[in-house]
Amino acid sequence: MMMNVPFRVTSMLEHAEWYFAKKEVTSRTMSGIRKFSYREIGERTRRLSSALKRLGVQKGERVGTLAWNHHRHLEAYFAIPGVEAVLHTINIRLSPQHIAYIINHADDQILFVDQDILPLVEALKDHIPNVKAFILMTDEDELPQSPLQPLYHYEKLLETGDPAYEFPQNVDENDPVGMCYTSATTGNPKGVTYTHRSTVLHSMSLGLADGGSVSESDVLMPVVPMFHVNAWGLPYAATWFGSKQVMPGPRFTPQLLAELIEMEKVTFAAGVPTIWMGLLQELEQNSYDTSSIRAVICGGSAAPKGMIKTFEEKHNIPFMHAYGMTETSPLVIATRLKTYQSDLDDEAKLDYKAKQGYVVQGVEMKVIGANGEVKWDGHEMGELLLRSNWIADEYYNDDRTEGTFNDGWLHTGDVVTVDEEGFVKIVDRTKDLIKSGGEWISSVDLENAIMAFPDVFEASVIAVPHPEWQERPLACVVLKPEAKGKVPKEDIVEFLRPQFAKWWIPDDIVFMDEIPKTSVGKFLKRTLRDQLKDHYMTTAKS
Ligand code: AMP
Repeated sequence: MMMNVPFRVTSMLEHAEWYFAKKEVTSRTMSGIRKFSYREIGERTRRLSSALKRLGVQKGERVGTLAWNHHRHLEAYFAIPGVEAVLHTINIRLSPQHIAYIINHADDQILFVDQDILPLVEALKDHIPNVKAFILMTDEDELPQSPLQPLYHYEKLLETGDPAYEFPQNVDENDPVGMCYTSATTGNPKGVTYTHRSTVLHSMSLGLADGGSVSESDVLMPVVPMFHVNAWGLPYAATWFGSKQVMPGPRFTPQLLAELIEMEKVTFAAGVPTIWMGLLQELEQNSYDTSSIRAVICGGSAAPKGMIKTFEEKHNIPFMHAYGMTETSPLVIATRLKTYQSDLDDEAKLDYKAKQGYVVQGVEMKVIGANGEVKWDGHEMGELLLRSNWIADEYYNDDRTEGTFNDGWLHTGDVVTVDEEGFVKIVDRTKDLIKSGGEWISSVDLENAIMAFPDVFEASVIAVPHPEWQERPLACVVLKPEAKGKVPKEDIVEFLRPQFAKWWIPDDIVFMDEIPKTSVGKFLKRTLRDQLKDHYMTTAKS
């Protein structure tokens, strides 16, 4: 028999304090950029844990954060589990109603709030009666006037804390340490609770050489917000492995990201496609030294092929496409070409890179189509089912658990194909597939093709009701600023024709200034569908 040492989130910070005490965290806050060593981060975190204890935070209680990516948020990532409470990172881009809902649903007792997010929380004051105290993460010396009471000053609270506070060692690895809510297509957001065990195992998977391969030699910049699936778990992994971290802070711009990459010599950066689109535009306009980057990792929505190609061929930046969900911690699938695939021509390699990839070690999948498990032929479509030690097996106090978590598998709601190499390609959300005359059309495939048209900035394809075919694809397109008003619809249609069967070609193209997006940058197809549901009636009349 072997030892059974409980996995513990705070052990990851202890490791950094012991072995990587001199390594740095670069943090951008409202007042500028500052640097902290892991020794300092460790000491400040211990102070914060001890102050939270003194404020009366109890084991299992939820403590919320409404904050950007910076050192104080990193400290809260460890200090809250450090008193056996549960870190609830709140997505500040949700609607105020949804933010109030999740604060109440999680029953948050204390809220950490960034200075610029304070007005948002003040406006919610009367709707979150159970919150007992607020802690302002501010660079200012004094607290502002606020109706939120009691309101504590983060730095002054740290001064009252004990730098030698000991994190509890005998924890149950299955105790909760974190919570995130994910937006539902309809209704309120759904909560997922992470444990010590799931968090440590997921962090370990981020360090696998054939996974994220996060290591001590990395300079890691999580651009993905710390309120979106814990910045994909990267702050935990980076701390444990002793990587230098670069935290871009509040309301950053593509220019700032490019400057940070150059100044801090970032090796690995993580974000959603809209972030990378913005960075590409910046790199087109101004020149930066990006040679330090070993990879950018991109997930959350499908990365268009044209974008991957530009990153790799024009800027020499390797691009890693990955897939995950709030329910999956999130990293479960990533593209890594196999050694023998290096013989493929560039176009074939790009095809693989544009797929989401194959499951990381420790994750199992099956894909269920109309007739059971689908063939791995790259064509047959089915729903992706996943299981792993870092995948949730329920939603927090929510009857929507039923239907999503069945027979020990997470039913992702994503429709995929799998090829002979095991590479998964997300074809659509089950709800976004377009059913034309009884046959399925993938909106994602069409979007990717349209986004490869040189004048197109972004595109979203939706199903609109059709009198004869039930549904037909309609393309919503945003042109690049310099091309606005100059591109006829027919040019885009002609561009698509050789690539798809005739019946896949969108019936019409609607030019827009902007595509509505969710709080985490995904196309809000529901809104588009609502706006354009009468498209055929309108076009028939006109
Ligand atoms: P969230 O819980 O907000 O992270 O959303 C998870 C959903 O995002 C998944 O179920 C997918 O529909 C979508 N998603 C995540 N990563 C990708 C990707 N690389 N390509 C396409 N869709 C993705």
